[in-house]
Amino acid sequence: MKQHIDNIIFTTISRIVGENKQQAFVIGGYVRDILLKRPSKDIDIVTVGSGIELAKKVANALNPAIKISVFRNFGTAMFRYNNLEVEFVGARRESYNRNSRKPIVEDGTLEDDQKRRDFTINALAINLSPDKFGELIDPFTGLSDLDSKIIRTPLDPDTTYSDDPLRMLRAIRFANQLIFRICDDSMESIERNKDRIKIISSERIADELNKIMLCDKPSFGFKLLQKTGLLAIILPELEAMKGIDIKGGQKHKDNFYHTLEVLDNICKHTDNVWLRWAALLHDIGKPKTKRYSESLGWTFHGHEFIGSKMIPKIFRNLKLPLHDKMKYVEKIVGLHMRPIVLAQEIVTDSAVRRLLFEAGDDIEDLMTLCDADITSKNPDKVAKYLGNYQLVRRKLKEVEEKDHVRNWQPPIVGEEIIETFNLPPCKAIGDIKAAIKDAILDGEIENNYNAAKEFMLKIGQEMGFKPVK
Ligand code: ATP
Ligand code: MG
Repeated sequence: MKQHIDNIIFTTISRIVGENKQQAFVIGGYVRDILLKRPSKDIDIVTVGSGIELAKKVANALNPAIKISVFRNFGTAMFRYNNLEVEFVGARRESYNRNSRKPIVEDGTLEDDQKRRDFTINALAINLSPDKFGELIDPFTGLSDLDSKIIRTPLDPDTTYSDDPLRMLRAIRFANQLIFRICDDSMESIERNKDRIKIISSERIADELNKIMLCDKPSFGFKLLQKTGLLAIILPELEAMKGIDIKGGQKHKDNFYHTLEVLDNICKHTDNVWLRWAALLHDIGKPKTKRYSESLGWTFHGHEFIGSKMIPKIFRNLKLPLHDKMKYVEKIVGLHMRPIVLAQEIVTDSAVRRLLFEAGDDIEDLMTLCDADITSKNPDKVAKYLGNYQLVRRKLKEVEEKDHVRNWQPPIVGEEIIETFNLPPCKAIGDIKAAIKDAILDGEIENNYNAAKEFMLKIGQEMGFKPVK
């Protein structure tokens, strides 16, 4: 392992622990990532003794100007050096109480520290003592689990998962990121302990979900979440999409698996995690709108509207960012059926203008979702649908070049309506504004100030108001 830690940070630590007759080790993700040849920017150093004192000495030796952040409560200290984040902690032993994630922490040995780690592959350590520099310390089959691509806990899985239930999500996240298999014992234990996820804060859950969302193929993680029963607890709206109903000999597709295909598809075309969320949630309104009739078979009328209305609650529950990110997801979910309509019919410019106006700068993202939403197994159909969307894109481009509605604001604002008719605050102002917007989008009047003003005067008077100037 020596060649992997031939770096001024590790050689400095080694020299200092040698001088002080101390022990220190690189541990956890950094060691795992060396062995997996993955890039890694956080280095965790464990020492037997005070992590904070060691951090100070090492930082001072590297460059006395380095700023150290000390977290006395956790007994940790960290600094940045050469774009790396180096964190120091004293080796510890942890014992847990059933009702909380907060362990009782005591000083311990390296082995104690390795035991409290989540997975064997995350418990590997490399010795930094001068006489044993570069020696790998692997008490829990970490190396062989890396080789066979297995996620396994160092202790009895029921202990590891119950002590800190966040580890259940971490297991699934690592399996997804690294394309590893979670060992059977662990899978069974997660199923048994799934309810303990309820003691974990929504922020931490959302953090792990976002890491799953950013994988190349998040369906892998979501299938594991579903299989273990965690999904039903943390995102019940998605769980509700699973299953197929049959009536009158007709069945609908399983919307859960369809959604996961759409999600994987879109991941090939975007790293924007919020567009990925929109893909995950685009059909979330389907279970609530599902109907069967003999004449129409299975329908999900209006699922995009109901789905878009469900977004705020889902975001609030998971403590995902509200405001613009949430609004964006709501908007994409709410509009996701519109390009389909534009593709199917001989459409008027006005329908295209409306979509451009409503989607604004997110129109490209919406079209990316529509392409991803094509999950037919029939290549002829896929080609046909993709072709249709190319046609829609052409129409969107033509109309945008002609009418510039993408970032358009109607030429008359509320204030002018109030002043023109001397109105108190009332609903009529919004109605007149909407009528002007509709008239322009529908092509009834031209998109300019004079035409809009004339139109405002006309409908204002029709509504019984008199212009005062
Ligand atoms: P990444 O940084 O890619 O998320 P990582 O393995 O470095 O992966 P961190 O969260 O940075 O993960 O944690 C660093 C190390 O700390 C882990 O490798 C693991 O040994 C340990 N660790 C982190 N969280 C836990 C936990 N909840 N339970 C036990 N050990 C943990
Ligand atoms: Mg890390």
